[in-house]
Amino acid sequence: MTLTNETHDPSLRSWVESANARTTDFPIQNLPFAVFRRRGSDENWRGGVAIGDQVVDLARVLAAGALSGTAGDALAAAAEPCLNRFMGLGADAWSALRLALSRSLREGAPARSTWQAFLVAQADVEFRVPARVGDYTDFYTSIHHATNVGRLFRPDNPLLPNYRWVPIGYHGRASSLGVSGQSFRRPHGQLRAGTDDPRLAASQRMDYELELGVFVGPGNAAGEAIPIEAAERHVFGICLLNDWSARDIQAWEYQPLGPFLSKNFATTVSPWIVTAEALAPFRVRWERGADDPQPLPYLDSQANRDAGAYDIRLEVRLETDRMRREGRSAPVLSRTSFRHAYWTVAQMVAHHTVNGCNLEPGDLFGTGTQSGPGEGEAGSLLELSQGGKQPVAIGDGETRTFLEDGDAVIFRGWCERDGAARIGFGEVRGTLLAA
Ligand code: MN
Repeated sequence: MTLTNETHDPSLRSWVESANARTTDFPIQNLPFAVFRRRGSDENWRGGVAIGDQVVDLARVLAAGALSGTAGDALAAAAEPCLNRFMGLGADAWSALRLALSRSLREGAPARSTWQAFLVAQADVEFRVPARVGDYTDFYTSIHHATNVGRLFRPDNPLLPNYRWVPIGYHGRASSLGVSGQSFRRPHGQLRAGTDDPRLAASQRMDYELELGVFVGPGNAAGEAIPIEAAERHVFGICLLNDWSARDIQAWEYQPLGPFLSKNFATTVSPWIVTAEALAPFRVRWERGADDPQPLPYLDSQANRDAGAYDIRLEVRLETDRMRREGRSAPVLSRTSFRHAYWTVAQMVAHHTVNGCNLEPGDLFGTGTQSGPGEGEAGSLLELSQGGKQPVAIGDGETRTFLEDGDAVIFRGWCERDGAARIGFGEVRGTLLAA
């Protein structure tokens, strides 16, 4: 587990003035990574780091020879058109580059005059999925979501008995991953009303899933499990992720092998990956209630119990066509925290590899929909509308049970606590188009 160091010092300020604003997601204590280029250009894609409302163009830093040693080697990988090689270098390289960036961007840094030329305004850039994702796995780590959804699909048997023993997951589809700003057509699939024969039609029950995405670092050779004690060294960082879902297609197809066409048409990630190191001040205890089965030894460690969970605050907003036309801001549908997850990221890594399955740099895990224990903490419309039976009021007379054409879904994430600088994830936005 990454400990805090000088880069987390809440009193640090940057010579990039916008990074010192109370409301910024990207103070000098954050320094998340993305892949970008100037909007509308045919420039090469390259790695960048957020500072305030600017991006540090890592290709320019590299071309200027501004860093050397371990940080310089890490920079060369992070400046590439996708971050896989950088992710594969491991925690010492990530950390060396973070420290060098932090020292160069601090108030009073002698490098200021040189580094000024490495900045590009975020308003002028476009992003892409920051890694070539070889494999995408979606977990199901929120017991509150699993229970809410289980109750709708199987009222007599909401939570299956394996849930409290196995970090449940399935293999997703990497080809349809897109970055924030993605729009896609309402998918077609087999729908079945009551006991009628199924028919092929556009989904009528389109939904979002509030998730985080976890980018894998070095990974493991086939046949060699990653023990939970080593799992944290294979976690590069975390982004926001929307696992769009067609609930009517899902209800008909999901047994016996799980979701297929109900999920694989689109998945949207935020451009910025907040590193595991930046998240160190926001690690919290992971607890397993005394009435629940305790995890098997390969899923248990003292470090995981002491600080295996992350307190990442999450928020969902919905923006309809009409709100856009009338210039109204998108209302909040729900808020929760990743701290309520039943399984931790380290447990996901240990479980995924216990059979010898190899993870590779840039592989992506979805955490599964994050729903908290309270009212208004549900991470999907399926739950908020109780399976479509209870329309959700979204202001000015508009309601939703499921998404309508033109709806944009926006997730935001951030971390805050006393004694640490607030850091954020920016946003992930996606829009559903007509079929
Ligand atoms: Mn999901």
